[in-house]
Amino acid sequence: AQTPVKVTVTGAAGQIGYALLFRIASGQLLGADVPVKLSLLEIPQAVKAAEGTAMELDDCAFPLLSGIEVTDDAGKAFDGANVALLVGARPRTAGMERGDLLQANGGIFGPQGKAINDNAADDIRVLVVGNPANTNALIAQQHAPDVPAERFTAMTRLDHNRALSQLAAKLQVPVTEIMKMTIWGNHSATQYPDLFHAEVGGKIAAEQVDEAWLRDTFIPTVAKRGAAIIEARGASSAASAANAAIDHVFDWVNGAEWTSAAIPSDGSYGVPEGLISSFPVVSRGGKWEIIQGLEIDAFSRERIDASVRELEEERAAVRELGLI
Ligand code: NDP
Repeated sequence: AQTPVKVTVTGAAGQIGYALLFRIASGQLLGADVPVKLSLLEIPQAVKAAEGTAMELDDCAFPLLSGIEVTDDAGKAFDGANVALLVGARPRTAGMERGDLLQANGGIFGPQGKAINDNAADDIRVLVVGNPANTNALIAQQHAPDVPAERFTAMTRLDHNRALSQLAAKLQVPVTEIMKMTIWGNHSATQYPDLFHAEVGGKIAAEQVDEAWLRDTFIPTVAKRGAAIIEARGASSAASAANAAIDHVFDWVNGAEWTSAAIPSDGSYGVPEGLISSFPVVSRGGKWEIIQGLEIDAFSRERIDASVRELEEERAAVRELGLI
């Protein structure tokens, strides 16, 4: 029988964790023929809740689930891990300054990066979901010098999927008709969903919608969708975030055509090297590759630059705090 793939999920007792773990165990993360072993990492006060989730996972009798461990020890959680989904993070609370937020998250993602460095399997792939995701991924990466830098990624796939859904509704086409959607930059309000390369029915999407809708409705709707969902449901968008995490890892491992992922920049499109920024990507042979050679119009350039500037400021701030 195939050796199970070890998948570590942090913040496993949280909302996203609850929406994510059952789908991983059912085979949706890696493929319907790949056995998995789950490791649930939590802070001590949430271990009991994570154990409750583990009991429910047991009760599903998933044929592909070969074992579950629950721990508050990062070294143990990442020991031999092949995939790490870093979901647990310190949320921004009212009145919290950016420096405090980054400091709190540095205290989580620095040690986790080191634990990954020292314990994970050679093929470890890391997806950071916990916000500020891009910079948390950078912090973890900088504490894992022995792991190839490109194994640290952050999630912009939910933004990508939201952009597909908004455009499909506007043009009244199935999402499957839309190709070449891209989210650029930071997973934050400055992100830039780009319709100048997206195609619907083989024609550029930006040419099929009016400019005012693109600028004043589409871009802000995609960027602020999380807040709209909290407003409507009274709880955050945990299930769609979990779904996007599944999409990201599945595509990374199994290959994919044009999609969006935040990966370390190689300097493409003027994004300073090393920043973990969202790009148009394909997945080939288990690696993300940035799609090259796209022309960037002035409207897009301005927005990509603004989001990348925010990433640079976050990197400068965590450097100043000594977190990287
Ligand atoms: P959620 O599971 O709802 O969210 C977890 C993280 O994902 C947050 O940082 C959140 O960011 C982020 N996120 C990214 N995209 C989305 C999205 N579309 N919708 C909602 N969230 C998104 O948080 P909970 O509070 O329910 O659970 C967090 C768990 O993490 C807790 O059980 C806590 O104990 C644990 N934790 C574990 C740590 C560890 O393992 N060492 C460390 C810290 C916490 P945002 O805040 O911006 O919404």
